[in-house]
Amino acid sequence: MELDKMDENEWRYHGEGNKSLVVSHVQLSIVLRLLKYPAEDSENPPQTVEQAFRQVQNIVDFSSNVMSCLLGEKFVHSGEVVKLPLEFVRQLSIKVQHQRPAWRCDKVMDIYSGCALCLPNLTSPTLHQPTHTPTLCIEIKPKCGFLPYSKHVSQDIKTKVCRFCMHQHYKVAMGTWKRRSRYCPLDLFSGNRQRMHFAIRQLIDEPQNNLKIFKGGRCIFSSMDGIEDSMDLNSLLHHLRPYFQYGNNRINSHMTSKALLTDFIQVVVNALLSAGGGDGGVGTDRRGEGRSFCEASLFNKERSRHGSQGSPSDSVLYRVRQTQMLDTLDIEGLYPLYRRVEQHLQDFPKERTRLQMDGPYNEAFLEKLHKCPSEDDGSLEYAVSKVHQYRVAMTAKDSQIMVALVPSCEEEEDDEGLPGQRQHRDFLSSRPPAFSYSVSILDLDPKPFDNIPRQLRLDQNIVSCYLRSSCALP
Ligand code: ATP
Ligand code: MG
Ligand code: ZN
Ligand code: MG
Repeated sequence: MELDKMDENEWRYHGEGNKSLVVSHVQLSIVLRLLKYPAEDSENPPQTVEQAFRQVQNIVDFSSNVMSCLLGEKFVHSGEVVKLPLEFVRQLSIKVQHQRPAWRCDKVMDIYSGCALCLPNLTSPTLHQPTHTPTLCIEIKPKCGFLPYSKHVSQDIKTKVCRFCMHQHYKVAMGTWKRRSRYCPLDLFSGNRQRMHFAIRQLIDEPQNNLKIFKGGRCIFSSMDGIEDSMDLNSLLHHLRPYFQYGNNRINSHMTSKALLTDFIQVVVNALLSAGGGDGGVGTDRRGEGRSFCEASLFNKERSRHGSQGSPSDSVLYRVRQTQMLDTLDIEGLYPLYRRVEQHLQDFPKERTRLQMDGPYNEAFLEKLHKCPSEDDGSLEYAVSKVHQYRVAMTAKDSQIMVALVPSCEEEEDDEGLPGQRQHRDFLSSRPPAFSYSVSILDLDPKPFDNIPRQLRLDQNIVSCYLRSSCALP
C-alpha cells in the first residue's frame, strides 16, 4: 500500500462500530479503521490533527503493550498508524456514505485528520487455503462473562443475573432493540459444549451487535446493517451449505437445516475452545466456579449443573474472561477510588501525566496496573492501579472475537503459512469436515478515565430497570 497513491476505488465499506468506521482493500487483506465524530461536530472537528494522531497511536500502544500481554500475543493484531492524503479520505467518505446503516449515521467519519489505523483484515486472513474456498468468519462480541463477586455490590440481583441479561431489559425499554436477545455470556464462557452451542444458537436468532458472519471478507449475516440479505436465516444456511456437504451428506446431497446449523456451531465451539495453535497447559478456568450460571439464562438449568468447569486455560475465551475479571471491585467499589484519583487531579492537574491517566500506554503503565497493593491502604497508588485495572477490564468486556475458518485439505498439511503472520492454524477433527482456522481478538481501544461516572449511572439504571421489569413479569 503506497500512501501517496491512495485510490478510493480500491477500498470498500466493510463495517463500523460506535467509535470507528472500517474499509477493506479489494485485493490486499488489509483494512483501514477511521475515527468517527458526532454528526453535530462535522463542520469543525472536536480535536486537532495532533490529538487525533495521539488518539490513534494510543490505541495501537494500548493494544500492543497492554492488552496483548494480558490476552496473549497470538490473538492480538495491533496494526499501525497511517497518515492518509486528505483528498483520499474525503472521496472515501462520500463513497461509503450510502452503504452505512442509517442507525449509525448520528456519527460521521473523520475527514480532517487523515489519521487511520491499518490492520490485517481478520475476516479474510491468508489461511491454509488449498481449495480457494472463501473464508468463513464469525465475529462475536461476547460481553462480560462472569458475575461480580465483589463485597461492594449493593444489589443481590447482580450476583445472580448477569449484566448482559439485565441490560437486555434496559435496551428494550429504551428502544435500542425491539426484542430481547436470549444469548447469555455465561453460557458462552462456560466451557460446556452444550451451553456454548445454546449461546451461539441464540446469537444467530437475535444477533443485535453481538454477532456478524462474513464470507470471503464480506458480511453475510448481521443485525440491522442495511445489508439486503442479512438477518435471514435461510440465506445464511444457503451460504453455509457448501462448506458442510461432506461424507454421506455429499452423496445423499441433502442435509437438513438443523444438522447444518449444528455442524457449523460445533466448528465454532471447537475453535473457541482450542489452544489456537500455541502451547500452554490444559488447565481449566476454576475461578468463579459455583457462580458460573446466570439465573436469567434459558439454558436448561438441570443440565448445566454438571460439567461447566470453565474453558481451557489456553483458549481465547479463558484469556478474555480472565482479563475482564480485573474488574475485581465492581463499579460500585471502584467509584470511590475514581473519586480519590479525580480529587487528587483537581488539586494537582499536572499529575494526570505522571499517573498516565490518558496514556502513554507503555511498560510503565503495565507496571502500574500490576503493582497494586492487595488491600486498600488509602493511598493514591492503590486507587490509580485499580482504576487502570478497571479500564483494561472494560476494554476486554467490549472487545470482539473473530474466528476465521476455511475447510482444510487433509492431504496437504505441511504448509506453514506466511512468515510474520501471527496467526495460528490447527486442524479441527471432529465429525464435521476439518477446518483450518485462526482466532483473534479485536477492538481493544482504551476506555477513557472520565467515562467512569457514566458507568456507575448506567449500572444503577440497568439494575433498577431490571428489578422493575422482572417484578412486573407474571
Ligand atoms: P464498538 O462499537 O464495538 O466499540 P468500534 O467502533 O470500536 O466498535 P470496531 O469494532 O473495531 O469498531 O470495528 C467495527 C467493525 O469493523 C467490527 O465489528 C468488524 O466487523 C470490523 N473490523 C474491525 N477491525 C477489523 C479487522 N482488523 N479485520 C476485519 N474486520 C474488522
Ligand atoms: Mg466493536
Ligand atoms: Zn445472563
Ligand atoms: Mg470499540
